[in-house]
Amino acid sequence: MNKVITVLKGDGIGPEIVDEALKVLDKIGEKYGHEFSYQYVDIGGCSIDQYGVPITDEGMATCKNCDSVLLGAVGGPKWDNVDPSVRPEKALLAVRHELGLFANLRPTKLFPQLADASPLKQSIVGNGIDLLIVRELTGGIYFGKRTTGEENGEAFAADEMKYSAHEIERIGRVAFESARKRRKKVSSVDKANVLDSSRLWRKIMHKLAEEYSDVEYEDVLVDNTAMQLIRNPGRFDVIVTENMFGDILSDEASMLTGSIGMMPSASLSEGSLGMYEPIHGSAPDIAGQNIANPLGTILSAAMMLRYSFDMLEEADAIEEAVNAVLDEGYRTADTMQDGMKRVSCSEMGTLVADKL
Ligand code: NAD
Repeated sequence: MNKVITVLKGDGIGPEIVDEALKVLDKIGEKYGHEFSYQYVDIGGCSIDQYGVPITDEGMATCKNCDSVLLGAVGGPKWDNVDPSVRPEKALLAVRHELGLFANLRPTKLFPQLADASPLKQSIVGNGIDLLIVRELTGGIYFGKRTTGEENGEAFAADEMKYSAHEIERIGRVAFESARKRRKKVSSVDKANVLDSSRLWRKIMHKLAEEYSDVEYEDVLVDNTAMQLIRNPGRFDVIVTENMFGDILSDEASMLTGSIGMMPSASLSEGSLGMYEPIHGSAPDIAGQNIANPLGTILSAAMMLRYSFDMLEEADAIEEAVNAVLDEGYRTADTMQDGMKRVSCSEMGTLVADKL
């Protein structure tokens, strides 16, 4: 197969980790007879520096006109005080919106080799953590109406959390379909005791639960979910939730696994076009030192093969290669422990590519 991938390296460690994912993709192409061609677009701070905007119109068109998008990360202190309308993160929201990427899949898996890196006790993580967070990505408070002004002589600001029925239903379907390929359990997370948007969310999820009667279903309040993720993460299979709750819970969940650097994600549209990225940010504190963990980005590339290109065997091969490299004791700084072999970002990429 020939596939065109738009590559958004971004800022901070973005270029370093993306280069390692491309190294692995090239090896897959060589081994399985595929041709991956890359079209590079500046995004985030580097684009602001060059063009004054976090992504140009041409860059956005390139993102739309490809088979899939691979992203590193954007942002950094240099751009913290730029005008809010051109902040680096604006480009991410715009790409998600323009490409219709409504479903964000974040698998949270504790690699057994890294069990000691989890901040939780063995008695809690001993049975493993393997859950999938399905986060709604193009609705809710991050895309709602914003109002700022003055009222009764003081400043105010308001952000609207709005969901329409079809937005809830389509993300619900992604969750139920995903659960069917896993342990067949969906936990729908909301705040229905307070929010109207959550009450609509719950009503629609209940309808879907009847339709997908082979899948076990539960409602969990978001505050309780935050607690359960620490107390008993093994109880979850698929968690489905709205945009902001998913943003917060998925970062919490990622920490259970020891390092944010290990976690991939996929953002899917209604077609095959998706955007794949590690869940972490641009890590300005370690940028340019060749010490970042590239595995989250490499595993994101594996998700790209699985979800956008239907290359299941190739995706499995990458995941097995990552496992094998961890089994052999290789670790980047963030997951380093006594008795292990410390490697750089680029060495880790080469080790995974060589395993293929
Ligand atoms: P971060 O995820 O960049 O870093 C948090 C901590 O985790 C840091 O100590 C960092 O060194 C470490 N870390 C992150 N990725 C790592 C990796 N691959 N290997 C080893 N260690 C890693 O979060 P932050 O510091 O809050 O944000 C930094 C910048 O990134 C900010 O400008 C923020 O807005 C931006 N950001 C971007 C995205 C994105 O592009 N999708 C997501 C989150 C934050």
